[in-house]
Amino acid sequence: MNLKKRRETMRTKKCCPVCGSTDIHLKAWANPNTRELHDFLEKQEDVYCTTCVEWYDEVITVEEFNKNKEGKEKDNGNVPCV
Ligand SMILES: [Zn+2]
Repeated sequence: MNLKKRRETMRTKKCCPVCGSTDIHLKAWANPNTRELHDFLEKQEDVYCTTCVEWYDEVITVEEFNKNKEGKEKDNGNVPCV
């Protein structure tokens, strides 16, 4: 995968807001006869992370997760976690 494509994936790929895992489940509309997936619910209020084994009320993109992580690391600076 080239770099441009990887960036594109990061921008659109959804992940867990807490741990950043992409192994998440969202609710979606599907046809039970064809098992065809029609659409995801417009407002994602129930996100299940298989890594945390928890339900969350929001989903963010991998890009957003990385940005948040960077921001937090900067905020903490050299202060040790107690
Ligand atoms: Zn998680």
